[in-house]
Amino acid sequence: MAHQLNDRQQQAVNTIESPLLVLAGAGSGKTSVITTKIAHLIRNAGYKPSQIAAVTFTNKAAREMKERVSQLLGKGNTRGLTVSTFHNLGLNIIRKEHRALGYKANFTIFDDQDTLGLIRDLCGRNADADKTELMAFQNKISQWKNELKSPQDIVNQVTNQDDLAAAKLYELYDRSMRAYNAVDFDDLIRYPVVLFQDNPDILQKWQHKIRYLLVDEYQDTNTCQYELVKLLCGRFGLFTVVGDDDQSIYSWRGAQPENLALLQQDYPNLKVVKLEQNYRSYGRILKAANQVIANNPHVFEKSIWSDKQYGDPIRVVVADNENHEAERVANEILAHKLRHGTDYSDYAILYRGNHQARFMERALVTKQIPYTVSGSTSFFSRTEIKDILAYLRLIVNQDDDNAFLRVVNTPRREIGPTTLEKLGLYAQQRHISMYEACFEEGIKEELHTKGYAAITRFVELIARTEDSVKRGDVMAVLHELIAYIGYHGYLYDQSSSTKAAEFRWSNVQQLLEWVDREIQNLEEDDDNPLARALNKLLLREMLDRNEEDEEQNEVQLMTLHASKGLEFNHVYLIGMEEELLPHRSSIEEDNIEEERRLAYVGITRAQKTLTMTYARQRKQYGELVDSEPSRFLFEMPQDDMIWEEQQLPQSEEERQQKGRRNMDALRAMLTDD
Ligand code: ATP
Ligand code: MG
Repeated sequence: MAHQLNDRQQQAVNTIESPLLVLAGAGSGKTSVITTKIAHLIRNAGYKPSQIAAVTFTNKAAREMKERVSQLLGKGNTRGLTVSTFHNLGLNIIRKEHRALGYKANFTIFDDQDTLGLIRDLCGRNADADKTELMAFQNKISQWKNELKSPQDIVNQVTNQDDLAAAKLYELYDRSMRAYNAVDFDDLIRYPVVLFQDNPDILQKWQHKIRYLLVDEYQDTNTCQYELVKLLCGRFGLFTVVGDDDQSIYSWRGAQPENLALLQQDYPNLKVVKLEQNYRSYGRILKAANQVIANNPHVFEKSIWSDKQYGDPIRVVVADNENHEAERVANEILAHKLRHGTDYSDYAILYRGNHQARFMERALVTKQIPYTVSGSTSFFSRTEIKDILAYLRLIVNQDDDNAFLRVVNTPRREIGPTTLEKLGLYAQQRHISMYEACFEEGIKEELHTKGYAAITRFVELIARTEDSVKRGDVMAVLHELIAYIGYHGYLYDQSSSTKAAEFRWSNVQQLLEWVDREIQNLEEDDDNPLARALNKLLLREMLDRNEEDEEQNEVQLMTLHASKGLEFNHVYLIGMEEELLPHRSSIEEDNIEEERRLAYVGITRAQKTLTMTYARQRKQYGELVDSEPSRFLFEMPQDDMIWEEQQLPQSEEERQQKGRRNMDALRAMLTDD
């Protein structure tokens, strides 16, 4: 698989003494530069693997990068090398430096659902605050964190009452997270930055450890991540970052493509290398991608060409509705595979939103086509998985009130809401966790004898288990716990059929296997292996939920966001409709450019063929609604496309006219600002 790098790529690999930015379009070998450079640093430039860190955004991408490096260097020669996501790197730093941050070693990670629950609690358990309102708070807090603003900064800067309420909530949230000994997703980046800013000695230690840093998909860094990169690289700036401003698709998480331009300011000796040859896609696909993205304004001018064959026309398959769309895609994949003797894993089905996968999955199941969904929430949002994870979290960190509340009465232990309310109030007034409150003398008087007895039994069980986990065979203890609480029987009581119960039980087993594997995989000795394994699992879950499975011969289903950096021979981009891509909210917010970048990412995943689909009608809130083809379809070169529909919804002329109209409107919009 190793190929000869072109001159520009080679130049990027050889530039070591000064900071380097590689700026180039999709498929031009940016990630290849990173992997080859890691090998070069180790082989020819005297770096030890442990002195190099490479970071990217998704676990899948990180895993692929690691694999490519191993292939170049040979498996045994990468020991100590860090190839991870930003969040994993942050987690590692926090884990090693938790004391300086005022956290205990057994801290847990809260996922979005946990933090939403916390925000609901903070807004008043009984106030039936609207979920969208709570989510707005959640986003606000996340945004502030990504801008590196502390609650104090925010309280000082707000001017109106509404903002003040949000700022106060942020303050409360921050305090509660500390009380829970928990960190959220944003904290994984923010805390390392705060830590380094406040502790020059710790920063120096890390700068000494990580001598060379490489960042893939740099265009998606937010302020916080950029700050982390800058701190780690120090004044000398020994780093290589690669990116493509046209693939910036995380502005909703605070990504700042301007960080590409900022680099030049912050590092005046920055070298910039541009790559121009695309090695991924057939000519027609590349042409379509270039033409679509040309409708966006550009900070950097890039041109990209390919000497691969021109390839088949891009197909637009028109379906009647979403079921028909899914069916057609499934049929096509089957037929194509038969004709060309390809593997299922040569095919990817990409979409804008997770909900689109449902119909697709059903059609694939019916046709018995093996597939895998990445980034799907299904496994980790299952009740049984959340239950068992909550037990594990509580065993690791007894201050985790969220976990406590989830399992205190699961399976049922006759612990009622009144008992829990009283316990919650008692704990809150004393600024202690609910678990801790159970051991206090005072709580005894507050609770019913029966309630008190039940809750005491529960916390003693947790205490006992925690103790055994510390001393013994972790997995044996966990299996014993699950047997002791009668979870198997509980699943049977809870499920509608034996089959459903068995399925849920097998999920629990699967989870335990993963925990076991994570523990086995820990590289160093650890005094708290369960805590570490659990955090790894939780983090993986939030980023990329289905990537534990080994690559198999399966059709790949994923969102456009999750597909970044990857490539597939045959790509089906489904739901090419107005309000889906571009997404309705982006149309409303006038943020078409980001949607166009998403389309660009999708198109450029394809190596050999690209098929796009749209359904004339789609169900929305239970009602069939007419849909219009995505404007991006009309921005593509019509001569290179074949529209496959029984009845054309519009004549050719109308369509072209419409395409022109859309383009004009867009141009007007772009020149306005
Ligand atoms: P993206 O922007 O989508 O992340 P990228 O710029 O990171 O793309 P790579 O994934 O590194 O591009 O490379 C795209 C494809 O081109 C890969 O299959 C890679 O193996 C191949 N490739 C990269 N450089 C060369 C080269 N010099 N000669 C031949 N093939 C190459
Ligand atoms: Mg890449």
